[in-house]
Amino acid sequence: MTLPFKLSAQSTETAARCGTFKTAHGEVKTPVFMPVGTLGTVKALTPEDLLQAGAQIILGNTYHLYLRPGCEVIEPFGGLHRFMHWPGPILTDSGGFQIFSLAKLLKMSEDGATFQSHIDGSRHLLTPEKSIEIQIALDSDIIMCLDQCIAYPAAKEEARAALELTTRWAQRCLTTWQAKARPDSALFGIVQGGMFPDLRQQSVEALVALDFPGYAIGGLSVGEPTDLMLEMAEHALPLLPSDRPRYIMGVGTPENLIELVARGADMFDCVLPTRNARNGQFFTSQGTVNISNARFRTDPTPVDPDCACYTCRNYSRAYLRHLYTARELLAYRLNSIHNIYYYTHLMAQMRQAIAEDRFKAFRRHFYRMRQGGAG
Ligand SMILES: [Zn+2]
Repeated sequence: MTLPFKLSAQSTETAARCGTFKTAHGEVKTPVFMPVGTLGTVKALTPEDLLQAGAQIILGNTYHLYLRPGCEVIEPFGGLHRFMHWPGPILTDSGGFQIFSLAKLLKMSEDGATFQSHIDGSRHLLTPEKSIEIQIALDSDIIMCLDQCIAYPAAKEEARAALELTTRWAQRCLTTWQAKARPDSALFGIVQGGMFPDLRQQSVEALVALDFPGYAIGGLSVGEPTDLMLEMAEHALPLLPSDRPRYIMGVGTPENLIELVARGADMFDCVLPTRNARNGQFFTSQGTVNISNARFRTDPTPVDPDCACYTCRNYSRAYLRHLYTARELLAYRLNSIHNIYYYTHLMAQMRQAIAEDRFKAFRRHFYRMRQGGAG
């Protein structure tokens, strides 16, 4: 049970690389950005919108789907793909992050995490075995191990205990996945260790010994400065086997993605493009644009003159500003289409730059374009 992953190019100036992995629901070209489909929907977008905006794979949230609508609703459909009408690959998270960030965590033990639902206050125990079983019921293509997340900042002993528990849970996840999952799914181990390089190394070594089809780096972008996030990633990424996909969880801005690709990362997810779209903020080749700005009131030009998305091809800044300020529902869809396209197009541009071995020049150009700033 492995994830067929082929590297097709490697930058000679940086650690950036590009490749392809295969799942039962299609191929994915890396580096890749995965839009977040929290509740079985990437907010405001249909699967057709997502495909047209260049999405290759999306993320589903185990915690949310387990609580609402529940596996008993989704499983009879044969899984999340058919339930939500998304034909492509799906990666599901383990639920761990939401238990620590959203739910009320009642008790942590060797067995698992007991938490109280943020919806109705009901009590649940999530064990490593149960997390994998839920993800199997969702028919996930890439399943994530249950990990213990910690807050930032955290003391070293707390970070060490969390990573050691995460390692023991990873073994239990692996056993459950091997026994119960479809053989063409993949299971990723999650590197923890807080902001301590030696603990990150300890975590990588313990997980690599278990031989996962792919590896994720968790516990980043949790409030630490960007330089520290990049330092931790730069430390851990080269320790991971080069023939497996490397996924940085929950990161980040366009700048973060470029810097992490330069350090050898392959996969990303983040709510930024969709959340900011709903708040009227566009990511563009010239920086971020807040569409509510009064100076766009009569502006007939597209939000990003360099963008070929459905929104930019058909709508002006003046119209998008009008929709957004009037709180029209279409604003959420059109804004989200652009931001998802911006992210997937950025990744496609990076893949091409890596294939042509001009990643550094691409990065320079990216930063130069933003210096003017679009406001
Ligand atoms: Zn656009």
